[in-house]
Amino acid sequence: MESMTTATPPSSPGGGPTSPSPSGQPNATVLVVEDEPAIAAAIAQRLSAEGWRVEVARDGLAGVDAATRLQPDAIVLDVMLPGIDGLEVTRRIQAETPIPILMLTARDDETDMLVGLGVGADDYMTKPFSMRELVARVKALLRRVERAAQAAATVPADPPMTMGDVSIDRAQRRVHRGGEEVHLTPTEFELLVMLASAPKTVQTREKLLAEVWDWADASGTRTVDSHIKALRRKLGPDLIRTVHGVGYAFEPPAD
Ligand code: CA
Repeated sequence: MESMTTATPPSSPGGGPTSPSPSGQPNATVLVVEDEPAIAAAIAQRLSAEGWRVEVARDGLAGVDAATRLQPDAIVLDVMLPGIDGLEVTRRIQAETPIPILMLTARDDETDMLVGLGVGADDYMTKPFSMRELVARVKALLRRVERAAQAAATVPADPPMTMGDVSIDRAQRRVHRGGEEVHLTPTEFELLVMLASAPKTVQTREKLLAEVWDWADASGTRTVDSHIKALRRKLGPDLIRTVHGVGYAFEPPAD
């Protein structure tokens, strides 16, 4: 397994006709917000090797500024940062525009805490992690962005799904409850659509992870839990039922 300190050197940044990026997202821009210079450099080097444009910010405020300026396709964000921490960075970025965030934590219990808060990151990884795993997770984030763009382009005629006082407009990617617009991250939106497409039907966390996140890993089920928490906080606690030991089910509100 590769480690933080043994990132492979960039093979062909930018790709080219003879060396296409294996990611399928050769023009992606990834922002790395990490205050530890060695880790930041290793991550940047490895992501650059995928053919992505990479920029590094060294503290929270610089990260928010860079996100606003660059409008990156994905952000790798350390939670412990000087100035404002990763939680506040996430809040500020998500308040402006939904950019998928992979959050790096120092310990598993820190991840548990963040999952519990439903902070709005799209995925979590605990240090130390393998660079291979990091690349796989970033690719999954970028695939979701691409898929969301495709979905928005291909279902413009779909009428909004309306259940009680909840309306989900897949073409506009907008959600309303009780007449009020509810702002969801792209991942929260996809998860809600997945659940609402099969009302009253239990879907396992593993299935949701595979369908929405596009990867399957036992540790990833906590990521599902954190997004369910976020959806409940934003939409109300009654829409999504926990089926203990199994998964989650969408409960349409009464008309
Ligand atoms: Ca740090």
